[in-house]
Formats: sequence, structure tokens, C-alpha cells
Amino acid sequence: MTSLFTSAENTPLIERDVVVIGAGPAGLMAAYTLKKAGKSVAVLEARNRVGGRTWSGKVQDDRGHEHFIEIGGQWISPDQTRLIELVEELGLATFSRYREGKNVYVSPDGTRHTYTGDQLPVAEETAAQIEKLIGLLDAKVAEMNVTQPWNMPDAEVLDSISFRDWLKQHSDDQEAIDNVSIYIASGMLTKPAHTFSALQAILMAASAGSFSNLVDEDFILDKRVVGGMQSVALKLAENLGNDVYLSSPVRQLNWATVDPQTADPLNQVLADVRNGVIDDGAPAEVTAYSDTVTVKAKNAVLAIPPNLYHRIQYVPALPREQMIAHQHISMGLVIKIHAVYETPFWRDKGLSGTGFGGGRMVQEVYDNTNYGPNLVDEHEGESPHGTLVSFVSDVHAETLWALPAAERKQCILEELATYLGDEALRPIAFYLSDMAAEEWTRGAYATSYDLGGLSRWGHLQNRPTGSIYYACSDIAAEGYQHVDGAIRQGENAAQRILARLQ
Ligand SMILES: Cc1cc2nc3c(=O)[nH]c(=O)nc-3n(C[C@H](O)[C@H](O)[C@H](O)COP(=O)(O)OP(=O)(O)OC[C@H]3O[C@@H](n4cnc5c(N)ncnc54)[C@H](O)[C@@H]3O)c2cc1C
Repeated sequence: MTSLFTSAENTPLIERDVVVIGAGPAGLMAAYTLKKAGKSVAVLEARNRVGGRTWSGKVQDDRGHEHFIEIGGQWISPDQTRLIELVEELGLATFSRYREGKNVYVSPDGTRHTYTGDQLPVAEETAAQIEKLIGLLDAKVAEMNVTQPWNMPDAEVLDSISFRDWLKQHSDDQEAIDNVSIYIASGMLTKPAHTFSALQAILMAASAGSFSNLVDEDFILDKRVVGGMQSVALKLAENLGNDVYLSSPVRQLNWATVDPQTADPLNQVLADVRNGVIDDGAPAEVTAYSDTVTVKAKNAVLAIPPNLYHRIQYVPALPREQMIAHQHISMGLVIKIHAVYETPFWRDKGLSGTGFGGGRMVQEVYDNTNYGPNLVDEHEGESPHGTLVSFVSDVHAETLWALPAAERKQCILEELATYLGDEALRPIAFYLSDMAAEEWTRGAYATSYDLGGLSRWGHLQNRPTGSIYYACSDIAAEGYQHVDGAIRQGENAAQRILARLQ
């Protein structure tokens, strides 16, 4: 089959056992696992760096001093055992988030409360409603096999009701709903709670072990990697050496030879492609055409977020079910805010830096002070500068992006000041992560199905198409939408390919 992608004509052609598309944690882990097992690989990455949605950066303060930030994924929780093992295997260290002192809760009327422990300081009835909703969600999680959420009892029913309406069915306390909702809607899927289903919400909780784990920030935001989470990808890439090709977006993937006899008489699409090919996952011949190199291989791992699948031209076209399913998976939207201060001033006031306010523009804030050597600091211990990280999600993020930059910054800083005091108004450095504006991600943190999509098409997401395997945090079971899920997915795709290549 000839190339439709004309600029590929002048690029070198190489042959490998497996071509991996995408050098995020999933793709790199797939390649690392395959190479360790003696297979030859080539990883084609669109960006001029590895790591995908994990990315370390520097921001300058007014004096020209640089400060380290993690633009993308950073936290690891205790259930993310595959990532924890890998971090150790790669010789990386972790450190714990600062959590001494009191947390802050801002109630819907704007009143600020401080508290300790895991109970928000809300009225007794609201606290009882929150507890009830958490209990109901935990019970649903217990019914779900996280690798097959579409098979849980009532999957279709739960997938046909929005998470917001499901919460409303069980409570009429808006403050309780807002505070339960943030852990999944703005806090994880970064979409409004009326745009995804209760089933999708239960999957999010089940992938972290339970809903109770999600609401426990000491659990879910436990540790960071010294030097930044991108170090995981950088270390994996180091092991792969010249097998990683940067600035090499894959434009076309030829993946099957099909029987012309099966063509539809009018649209000429071949029946075995329309309906999916037999022997899914078996090694065959795939050719990936990128801007710098063309790779011929026996299998491909497509390790890119599902919202970007359509950016590649498949020859022949993917089976109809896959093409439809992919149109029902979309990215959320979140702005990750980094504010660096001369010192972690909140600690002097006995505050942990953790703040919550369901329904507010900035619904969560945490101490994100750096520790150990990184891109800008060489010291071993904690940085003397205090860093806060906070998040603005979904419709609030749209509102903020629509503002002029100075107004946007002021609006965010005023929110931070509501939680932690007026010192928050005067950061020495400030940066907003904007993965939604990046061509090779187009949103944050990750993708999820629209209403009804998970029960209808979820079973297809990890099913190979011909010799193409899929791997991404966004189609993971454990560690769904997290680096741990990406690592598991990459390793799993590699193991499945290895079993077929024997
Ligand atoms: C702001 C933010 C905060 C986050 N916080 C956390 C956190 O605290 N903890 C956590 O565990 N997770 C977090 N995440 C999620 C985590 O970063 C992702 O789950 C993880 O990076 C996904 O890995 P992946 O390899 O599946 O996909 P990606 O990291 O998206 O990697 C995919 C790669 O494919 C490349 N690509 C795309 N199209 C093509 C193409 N056509 N050809 C070649 N290459 C292509 C991309 O450039 C990218 O490098 C966060 C994400 C964001 C954005």
C-alpha cells in the first residue's frame, strides 16, 4: 500500500518489531518493557520533548531568579503501586506534600473556616448528607470491576444519568452536592457534573480504590517525585537512547491488507475493515509515517490520548465501531495555577496551605513547595520559597481564559487570598499551565466519555485493531487518568504483544 502522506517520501525507512506512537509515560513504558524483553522498538513523538502531560518547567521572578514548577501531572497516591515500583526501579526518590497545620474551608456564603481532620466544617445536616453520598458512592464502587465498568449491575442505567442528577436524586443539600461533586467533576474529570454519567464517576472513584480515597487529599495527593514527575519519562527515554524520535508526529498509519472482494459496491469500504479484522492483535505489517522517519513494524502501540486518535490518517480507515466510539471521548479543561512566594507564609499562621470551597472559582489549593534537586535548585532539602498550587476547572476555566491576563491573575490571587490571607496577593512568580492550548494534548487532565459512552463503547477501548494496540492513562482501569494508569497500560500493551510475538 503506498503512502498518502507525501512528505514521508524523503524520510528514512527503518524496520522494528514494534512502533510506539507517543512518548508519554504509557508509550515509553511500552517501549521500555519491549526492549527489556529483547524486541526492537522505535518511539515516535510529536513534541520536541518526552513526557507528554508530565512536564517540568522554570518560571522567572522579577529579579530574574528561576523557580521550578511541574506543569502537568505530579502527585502519586499509595494505591498507585505500579508507578511507585517503577520510580524505585529507575532510582528516583519521592517526597511528601506538606500537611502540618489547619486546612481552610470557604463556605458558599464566602465565610472562611479553619479545621483539622477529614471532616469539612459544615452544618451537621450537610455533614450527614456528605457522609451519606460518600457511603452510596463507596457501595457502588464495591459493585464495580474496574477493568469492566460496563459490566457492573445497572451499568446502562448509571450511564444514562448525569453525575449531577444522580447526586440530586440522593440529596437536596446543595452544599453537600457541591462538596462531593468537586472530587470527581472539577477535581478529576474537569468537566461540569451534568456532562458525564454516574457510571463514569464511579469508575473514577473505583480506579483509585474507593470514593473515600478520592476525598482524602492526604491519600490522593500524597507524594511527588524529587526532580519532578517528568523524570520518570526522562529516565525511561534514557534507557531507549536513539530509539526515541522527537518532533516526529505520526500522520499516517497503514495497518492492514484487506480483501478487495469484500468492498461495499458504493462507498468501496472493505467489509473486513468495516466490521473489524479477524486475528485482532496478531503481528502483521504496520507502517507509521512521521515527519522525520517512516517505521515498518509487526505491531504498533498507539499511546496517545483518545481525543487525538483522529489526527492520524489510518489506511485503511479504522473499523466503524472504533471510529464512532472515538467521537464520544473528550478532554476536560483545567488551569493548574502556580504561585511562588518569598516564603511559605501560610505555615507561619499555622495553616497547611490546603483549602477547599465547592462551587467557587478556585475550589482547591495546596502547598506545593519544592524539595531536593530539580531544574533550578541544587540543594538537598526543601526550597526556602513557598509555592502554592491550585486549580480552576471546566466552566470557571473558560471564564478565566476570557479575561485579560492582568485581570485573570488578580481574580485568581484574590481567591487565594480568601483562603490563605492577603500575602497571597503578592507572589514573586506566577504561571498558569495551559495544556488545552497545546496541539498534542488539547485539554487537561485527561479524557472521558460523554453521557452513555462508557457502557456503550468502553469494551472497545483496549481491544486491538489489527496489529495496533492502544495504551493511555485515559483508557486505564487502576490509575485511570493518572500516570500510574499510563504505566500500567504501556506495560500491559507490551506484554500482550510479547505473548503474540512468541
Ligand atoms: C495539568 C495536569 C495535572 C495532572 N496532575 C496529575 C497528577 O498530579 N498525578 C497523576 O498521576 N496524573 C496527573 N495528570 C495526568 C497525567 O499527566 C496523565 O495521565 C499522563 O501523563 C498520561 O500519560 P499518557 O502516556 O497516557 O499520555 P500523554 O502524557 O498525553 O502522552 C501522549 C504523548 O503522545 C504524543 N502524541 C500525540 N499525538 C501524537 C502523534 N500523532 N504522533 C506522535 N506523538 C503523538 C504527545 O505529544 C504526548 O507526548 C495531570 C495532567 C495534567 C495535564
